[in-house]
Amino acid sequence: MILEFIRRFMYGRYGNDQLNQFLMLLGLFFAALWSFVQLGILTILVIIIIGLCYYRMFSRNIAKRQSENQRFLSWYMPQKEKINNAVFRFKDRKEHRYFKCKCCKTYLRVPKGKGKISIHCPNCGNEFVKKT
Ligand SMILES: [Zn+2]
Repeated sequence: MILEFIRRFMYGRYGNDQLNQFLMLLGLFFAALWSFVQLGILTILVIIIIGLCYYRMFSRNIAKRQSENQRFLSWYMPQKEKINNAVFRFKDRKEHRYFKCKCCKTYLRVPKGKGKISIHCPNCGNEFVKKT
């Protein structure tokens, strides 16, 4: 009965996507922050963010919501990859050292504890000496 009502209500509406999930987490984050510091601005922020989530979820303008989500993903995916790479480098810190090539900004991984070695960047051909 309730499920049927929800199904009928959501028919032709946009529903959930990655941008909404991100907004929900952001809203929860500000709500959690509010429990530590009771600032009025946080309450307003949470209301705006959660309101935006519901607005997008119940929206009938599906094409516009999809293009918003695409724009969000083109910003979010590179950030997510950077974070994942940083986590990987941190977990690997006992085995390898990572150096950033000054020319092309590529991360180069070298084994740890080999003393001073010359590192050759396979991407741009730059060479530099570092202590590992
Ligand atoms: Zn390079």
